[in-house]
Amino acid sequence: MRIALKYGIGYGVAILLLAAIAVAAYVSATQYRESMLAVRRSQVLADELQAMRENLIDAETGERGYVITGLSAFLEPHDRATAEVPGRLAALETLTRDDLSQAERFAKLRDLVERRMQYTASVVADRRANGFDSAATTIEAGQGKSLMDGARQIVGQMIAMEKASIQRRQVETAESFRFLEQVSVVGTLATLNIMLIGGFLTMRNMNRRIDQLVEATRMLGSGNLNYRLETAGHDEVTTVGRAINTMADDLQEHKEALDSFVYTVSHDLRAPLRGMQGFSQAILEDYGDKLDETGRDLAGRVIAAAARMDELIQDLLDYSRLGRAQIEIRPIRLEQVVDSALSSLSKVIGNTHATVRVERPLPAVLGHRPILQKAVANLVSNAVKFVKPGAAPEIRVRAETKGPFVRLYVEDNGIGIDPLHHQRIFKVFERLHGIESYPGTGMGLAIVRKGMERLGGRAGVDSEPGRGSLFWIELPQGGQS
Ligand code: ADP
Repeated sequence: MRIALKYGIGYGVAILLLAAIAVAAYVSATQYRESMLAVRRSQVLADELQAMRENLIDAETGERGYVITGLSAFLEPHDRATAEVPGRLAALETLTRDDLSQAERFAKLRDLVERRMQYTASVVADRRANGFDSAATTIEAGQGKSLMDGARQIVGQMIAMEKASIQRRQVETAESFRFLEQVSVVGTLATLNIMLIGGFLTMRNMNRRIDQLVEATRMLGSGNLNYRLETAGHDEVTTVGRAINTMADDLQEHKEALDSFVYTVSHDLRAPLRGMQGFSQAILEDYGDKLDETGRDLAGRVIAAAARMDELIQDLLDYSRLGRAQIEIRPIRLEQVVDSALSSLSKVIGNTHATVRVERPLPAVLGHRPILQKAVANLVSNAVKFVKPGAAPEIRVRAETKGPFVRLYVEDNGIGIDPLHHQRIFKVFERLHGIESYPGTGMGLAIVRKGMERLGGRAGVDSEPGRGSLFWIELPQGGQS
């Protein structure tokens, strides 16, 4: 999956969660507003009903007072209630319009109230026209009381309905807030998780993979062309990894072609060279007495030059063989390798009175014995060779474990090397001195480095002029062998 798509999905999920929180908050707020309006309407309705009840009581009280006393002053609450009732009824009609059951009850209430108010008015008129006894007889008939009881009962029911509705709305609002609370907490935590943990894991993964790319380019750049990246997956980093692997394949192919070319050329050069050597030898042996001094000297020089060339070609062949040979990497004990290398150099060590100190025990490495032995022999023979004329070489061989690797050091008390040349001397035919002062082909360290690279290791040097040199090779640890 492409990186942009991965990020897109992560961000998309986070945004969806935020949107869900926003929607839940909006729905909750709307419900809350509606609930508040409904509660307010219920309260206004209940207040109006209460006022209507009081109007009825006032009308009845005024009516009774007037009937008993005949004084107009007692009619004041009756008149006020009579004036207020129509407006009250209109308000109640509007407030109950949207609620079917309350609207039905209101219709009954309106009927009862209107009839009760008409009844009151008729009793008052009767008292005014016919006196107390007539009005008292009408009251005793009980129609007014039954109308009043009916109206009171309906008002009570309607108020109870509104109170129940207020309570229900409050419960609903509380539930809606709880839901909003849960959605916000869960949604926010999930969003944070995605943004923080997801972001952190993705960044860590990217960093690790970019480090792998950097390591691959470093390894390939340092000449380890066997190094390959893992390329499972389909994102951009994997595509870069595949491109690096393809580049490494191409380089490997070209290098192999070059190795093969070098091998073929050097191999084919040896036959004519042997001819030159042999014929020059024959000239000296068979015709030496017929030549003057200069002739013999020149023939001798041809033989020496041919021998030198043979030496160079031999080293070149060894070098190109390193790139071509099938090798099996397995645990090798460094101590055996060092001992064999030293015994192959015993003659030169003896001749130069060199002292070689090996700090035992030496650990095991993963490698290939002939390549390792050749590398150690090359380092030790350089350590013996590159000393001031007449000085006795002192060489120290030791090893150190560095993480999963083992580093073998060959230290000498020789002439040392300017840090400017530390990289150069590991290249083919690179030498810092004339053949007359220090013999050699300039191939020794190139063979060391190439050998180490084939074994998945490295080689290097730490040195300064006049302060000796510390050459090292590094290979993976070999455990017990
Ligand atoms: P050769 O030994 O045949 O000259 P090498 O490839 O082994 O070739 O070494 C390359 C050059 O590095 C040498 O010619 C020498 O100048 C320098 N060199 C190598 N080893 C040492 C050493 N131990 N002390 C000083 N110089 C060294």
